[in-house]
Amino acid sequence: MDKYRGRFAPSATGPLHLGSVFAALISFLDARYHNGVWLVRIDDLDRFRCSSEHAESILQCLLSFGMEPDEPVIYQSERLNQYAKKFIKLKESGQLYSCLCSRKSLPKSAYPGSCRSRKGQPLISDASVRIDSQALNLCFEDIYQGRIQLEHPGDFIIKRRDGLFSYQLACAIDEHIDGITQVIRGSDLLPSTVMQKFIAAELNQIAPSYGHFPVLTDRSGEKFSKQSFARATDTNQPGLSFYKIAELLLLSDSPKPSAPSTEWIGYFLSLGNPAGLIPRTYSLTAN
Ligand code: GLU
Repeated sequence: MDKYRGRFAPSATGPLHLGSVFAALISFLDARYHNGVWLVRIDDLDRFRCSSEHAESILQCLLSFGMEPDEPVIYQSERLNQYAKKFIKLKESGQLYSCLCSRKSLPKSAYPGSCRSRKGQPLISDASVRIDSQALNLCFEDIYQGRIQLEHPGDFIIKRRDGLFSYQLACAIDEHIDGITQVIRGSDLLPSTVMQKFIAAELNQIAPSYGHFPVLTDRSGEKFSKQSFARATDTNQPGLSFYKIAELLLLSDSPKPSAPSTEWIGYFLSLGNPAGLIPRTYSLTAN
């Protein structure tokens, strides 16, 4: 096997909350357990929602939590030329088409393929661009969850109407550029995985292996997210967040909440393979 290369890829849309610290920690521990390299990539393609201040606060938070990337931080916003080149490659393969459907006219479920008849025609500017993904493979073996079978997402967006490349396209290309061998991330991204594997195959890239751990939810079952205004973690007291995570995973003999991050990281590392610590569920309820 190639040398393990993993990554944590937060969006620069706000400070880290408990759910994202959990995500960072599991991907970090997985990489360390496998003697791998751990990278941090800032997903900041969406210039309307992302900011360099948020990126900076995320990086500071990771440092104070004792999780330092092994290589310089990667920024998606610096890769637009590379995404554009691969976009052209996909276009030349004839799989892309312009979509003029308004969001309102579309069902909440999978895109029904209404504009697929435009395949093979020149792309229309100011229209979104979708990829014919009828051949997409819906099954894969997940490192954390076992065999996975997903619903078909429909032909998905590769380039948005506002000209931004989609997260699916950028992320699939990033994993290739960065030589990522293992993507360890939350189960909310399971649907993205089959799309990203599909793009990788269309671009003749070798896709990484994937592991999806449960996402943290609040008592009402809502995922902790910046959108749900989950509280930012206290960077001055990393032990508080680590303690909550240890409680959630029902771990014993953990350090005190006041212990420094180095002690906490050492403790988590001493527990062995993180896949063995994590329940095989899609969510975990935190308070
Ligand atoms: N930046 C995205 C997020 O935070 C993607 C993460 C990933 O691919 O791991 O949801």
